[in-house]
Amino acid sequence: MRVLMIAPPGAGKGTQGELIAAHFTIPHIATGELLRDHVARQTALGRQVQAYLDRGELVPDQIVLDMVREAMIAAKAAGGGYVLDGIPRNMEQARAAYEIGLELGMTADVALHLQADDAELTRRLRARAALEHRSDDTAEVIAQRLALYHEVTSPIVAWYRDRGILICVDAMRSAQEVGREILAALEEIRPSLDHAPAGERLPPDLTGLGEAYGAAGPAAGKSQ
Ligand code: ADP
Repeated sequence: MRVLMIAPPGAGKGTQGELIAAHFTIPHIATGELLRDHVARQTALGRQVQAYLDRGELVPDQIVLDMVREAMIAAKAAGGGYVLDGIPRNMEQARAAYEIGLELGMTADVALHLQADDAELTRRLRARAALEHRSDDTAEVIAQRLALYHEVTSPIVAWYRDRGILICVDAMRSAQEVGREILAALEEIRPSLDHAPAGERLPPDLTGLGEAYGAAGPAAGKSQ
């Protein structure tokens, strides 16, 4: 099972990513977690990315992609399944993640999109701020992360829809209900993954990634 998740901050990517990983016994590759771990350990990379995380901005693509490539190589050695959590976050990352997948013979089977509205996401992130102490769970940085999600991340969903691998889940419910629905949807497609040789699946049309953004910029047009 190879899953990538696209979801706004606070939608429950981390929780559901762990659940999927445990259910299918596959590695959970969470870019935010990996980056925060570098910051906590004050590695050279951690010092390089800390300011981006604190401001709620995306760290440079190449840093995240190098990290993910390494994790995907390890995932391949561990059996070939994975849950990607936190990437792709923009068009370039979507393209690059696909290319890494092609190179390693492990492109995503499913793009899981968790949907929730901004008011609920903000409420959850503020509640989390009281419990954990993430430097980016302040009111101002939460607003910045949500704005960035709408501007550069959410438009890539259309590309996965065009590729025929998109599953949308309403994340406005309890973690348990959302988790149940996700596992049921993934279990439903599992037999087709086990039996279809990789070569028989249609290669996606990468030009669609450009179209997802449209001539008028992000979020234009694709609302079907
Ligand atoms: P959230 O979705 O709640 O913002 P994450 O843990 O996924 O939480 O990400 C936290 C931060 O880590 C982001 O705001 C960003 O600074 C950085 N980050 C995570 N993944 C990426 C990525 N794919 N590209 C660039 N920056 C990333």
